[in-house]
Amino acid sequence: MFEVDPIGIVFSGAGGEAPDLGSRTIWVRDSSEQEKMSKISRYNHFQNWQDGYRIAFNAFTGSLALMTDENYLTYLGLAAKMANGGNLNSFEQELLKQLEYGHFMYPDQSDEFQTLKFLHGSARYDRSQLALIVAPTLACNMACPYCYEDNKSGKMTPEIVNSIVDFVSKRAQSLEKLDINWYGGEPLLAMDIIDDLSTRLVSLGKEKQYTYTSSIVSNGYLLNRETVDRLVALNVSVCQVTLDGPARLHNVKRPLKNGKESFQTIVDNVSYACTKMLISVRINIDKTFDAPVIAELLAELTQAGIQQRVAVNFGQLEPSSAICAAVAEACYEVADFSQVEIGFYRQLLDEGFRIEKLPRPTAAFCMAHQINAFLIDPEGYLYRCWNYVGDHDKAMGHIRDAVDYQNLNFTRLFAFDPFSDPLCSNCDILPICMGGCPSNRADRGQTGEKVCQSWKHNLTPMLEIIARSRQQQAKSTPKEQS
Ligand code: SF4
Ligand code: SF4
Repeated sequence: MFEVDPIGIVFSGAGGEAPDLGSRTIWVRDSSEQEKMSKISRYNHFQNWQDGYRIAFNAFTGSLALMTDENYLTYLGLAAKMANGGNLNSFEQELLKQLEYGHFMYPDQSDEFQTLKFLHGSARYDRSQLALIVAPTLACNMACPYCYEDNKSGKMTPEIVNSIVDFVSKRAQSLEKLDINWYGGEPLLAMDIIDDLSTRLVSLGKEKQYTYTSSIVSNGYLLNRETVDRLVALNVSVCQVTLDGPARLHNVKRPLKNGKESFQTIVDNVSYACTKMLISVRINIDKTFDAPVIAELLAELTQAGIQQRVAVNFGQLEPSSAICAAVAEACYEVADFSQVEIGFYRQLLDEGFRIEKLPRPTAAFCMAHQINAFLIDPEGYLYRCWNYVGDHDKAMGHIRDAVDYQNLNFTRLFAFDPFSDPLCSNCDILPICMGGCPSNRADRGQTGEKVCQSWKHNLTPMLEIIARSRQQQAKSTPKEQS
């Protein structure tokens, strides 16, 4: 949403050279430029780091930087002059230019809170982009105990496929971007539908000149070489695969329906897939995970040679439906999960994996807050949330019909406005959260800090991990000329 290099900048000038975070160094304000007044962003985070340096993070832009303690003192002096008036010395002028680049300070004539509110509103009502999560089947080849898509069969009919193409066609004239995410069930059980629908939507995009992007959520078992090559040819560039622990645990938690083990096949598949597409490995965390279990899994991924080629993320397992409620006692609340995940990300870093979980600014938390984003199930029902797939009582309509924005299943999740909520509107990480999961509020009745993302609880240690990760990457890659 914001056009600033997300991670990060290095404050140069007064105070000497900062440790290399693998990022751009920016230089001083042109002395001929007229000095303007600036404001201090309410979304700044400064924290001690090491050897006289501080980590500086701005949630409005996602900028991450290192600054010397000396520069931090200059910043405090600068901030005081901004509040009380006073001429800036040359160090302060130099630092101000860099602070403005990362939005740590910003021009006096704008208001970042109102800008954020405007960007959020624009994202809610943006019709230039259409995001469809398409479940071509709810059938699955696995039998995970926590799964809400219980024992479904069948797949999308040609009539529903045609309706989806019609749905996009009607909007194509004003469309700049179409994003399709394949979901299920296990979507690769309906590869023929993916093939047919992708081909038609890509072709329509060429004709109507919209950008087409695509990704898939798969359990990875059917992600063989042939399928990967076909998906790539169909513009699918990102795949999320789930591993629920090292082989001995994953094979119990995610058994195939026929009783066979799946771990080794998935890892073999990922080894090839990660050479062709971005692979995100999600590990669903519940209370059965501890450091030795994570260490065992990371060792297996390292042994498979994919340590540097996949993005490993830890997901909080949540009881989002009646079926998942059966495993609810094993699930963490977000505050506890946020503490547990710090240790797991440290393990990732220590074992040489990349850290891909970043505090990125977002205009809207998820599809539920965007009028042009829908999940479509194999029967053509439209939903506002990933967790509703296949539950017709929670559908907001059908792909064949005009979209009904008065439907209660639409308004129920769409209604929450973080800018009207006292806690969210005063929150210093609002730009990276935007109020949290609407379903947690509307369906689970959560309020207050219960809805907050884990960043609310662990931003400080996570920023340290991310900074260390960037430093490691910088050491292992040739230096960029700035
Ligand atoms: S409402 Fe919550 S669970 Fe549903 S898609 Fe949005 S973030 Fe995900
Ligand atoms: S849900 Fe929590 S973390 Fe998110 S914006 Fe609101 S107060 Fe902040």
